[in-house]
Amino acid sequence: MNVLVVNCGSSSLKYQLINSDTESVLAKGLCERIGIDGRLVYQKAGLDKEFTEAPMPTHKQAIQMVLDALVNEKTGAIKSLSEIDAVGHRLVHGGEKFSSSCVINDEVIKGVEECNDLAPLHNPANLIGVRACQELMPNVPMVGVFDTAFHQTMPATAYIYGLPYEYYEKYKVRRYGFHGTSHSFVSKRVAELVGKNYEDLKIIVCHLGNGASVSAVKNGKCVDTSMGLTPLEGLLMGTRSGDLDPSILEFICQKENLTVSEMLTVLNKKSGVEGISGVSSDFRDLTAAAESGNEKAALAIESFCYRVAKYVGAYAAAMNGVDVIAFTAGIGENDDNVRSKIMGYLGYLGIGLNEEVNKKTHGDDAMISTADSKVQAWVVPTNEELAICRETVALVK
Ligand code: AMP
Repeated sequence: MNVLVVNCGSSSLKYQLINSDTESVLAKGLCERIGIDGRLVYQKAGLDKEFTEAPMPTHKQAIQMVLDALVNEKTGAIKSLSEIDAVGHRLVHGGEKFSSSCVINDEVIKGVEECNDLAPLHNPANLIGVRACQELMPNVPMVGVFDTAFHQTMPATAYIYGLPYEYYEKYKVRRYGFHGTSHSFVSKRVAELVGKNYEDLKIIVCHLGNGASVSAVKNGKCVDTSMGLTPLEGLLMGTRSGDLDPSILEFICQKENLTVSEMLTVLNKKSGVEGISGVSSDFRDLTAAAESGNEKAALAIESFCYRVAKYVGAYAAAMNGVDVIAFTAGIGENDDNVRSKIMGYLGYLGIGLNEEVNKKTHGDDAMISTADSKVQAWVVPTNEELAICRETVALVK
């Protein structure tokens, strides 16, 4: 089967066409600046990227350009659109309604719309992508894969906030967690790599990218995760603050004469390691700055690692132990310095770092703990698109 995986944002759209039998990517790319001017990036497997500037006033036009590129006579990956057997959509927030992926129909769309309140930036944009694909490929089955679904197994003790209970009852204010597709993919993959039954393991997944979260997966089920009602909670991230004292909100709003919504923009877009360092949200820039003596950049990196280690400790406690720790996403897969710093906090777990393997591991599966460690540590590249493809195939076959 060929599955088109679509991740639609408000002004951009990422796509991959995957052959599910071989799990190979036939073509991939993105549409940028939808509704502004428009740019298509397209890359057929084995060929260079192509860039096309063309007006994309709406997502429908953007997807039409993707489909045209996929069947282009010279560089297309397929001969006709009939070779697309299904579309898998990344959907951000499924609230409490969706605890697994599902075939998209009118009822599902309505359910996702009901969660719009919880993800006002993401869910409406995701649905625009769904509708545009439905218009252009009316007979192709579509599947929605939710970022929040994997975390729906969390017990109430983990998801309830210390707020008046009526806010949960009236508004569904609770921890949901995000990056679920990645946490699910990586936790299953690391069980395979360790060679043990997924259902018998206590796994902590550290998804460390520009957005970052940790999850505790016990006996094949997520029991806790660091992101909350929104992705703002938890770790320090590229530009997000992560956990902080909520009183800071009012304090800074008054001092800086900001509205709550302006302050939330600061917390989402101008905080985290970029906010602390004043340099960048990108760990490559931060490392270069720290190495040339920038103390704030060094502090940002150190704080980031410290907070990951604190969450690992908390989740080892939550599961009464841990068997495997997995590092994934841009930083987790590539930044050996960050991994080494985090592992430096975890000696009490009986875990040792194999410095040599850690240093040379960038983007591949590798066990980075020493052979005699009580807890294994692994680098496991995430692949959310492949996970969405697999979920799609499982539902439409
Ligand atoms: P993601 O959100 O998973 O795409 O991760 C993006 C982040 O990964 C970037 O902002 C960088 O901070 C980090 N990153 C990517 N490649 C490297 C690398 N080679 N070394 C260190 N950090 C990296």
